[in-house]
Amino acid sequence: MTCPKTLRNGPCGGVRENGNCEVKPEMQCVWLKAYDRTIFLPLPKVWKDHYNDLRPPVDMQLQGTSSWINLITKRDQQTPAGWSVQDGNH
Ligand code: SF4
Repeated sequence: MTCPKTLRNGPCGGVRENGNCEVKPEMQCVWLKAYDRTIFLPLPKVWKDHYNDLRPPVDMQLQGTSSWINLITKRDQQTPAGWSVQDGNH
């Protein structure tokens, strides 16, 4: 969740040639880092499949609100119109 653009479905088109972030050139793109790390995890194939799951965009309307209340009220499970999410996939 440290992507400056809060992207949740893979890298943007601005990844630099050296693999660093377009917005914060001093850091490696989080998506490249995540992909590279899958090879060190147990069951790398499972993680690579998980990596390819489609996730809804971050709901910025929840910024500054209580994550506990959002969890209890299931507000954090609401997705924007046009998105469908399978159970356990968000
Ligand atoms: S280069 Fe990677 S970390 Fe940077 S904004 Fe794009 S997707 Fe996010």
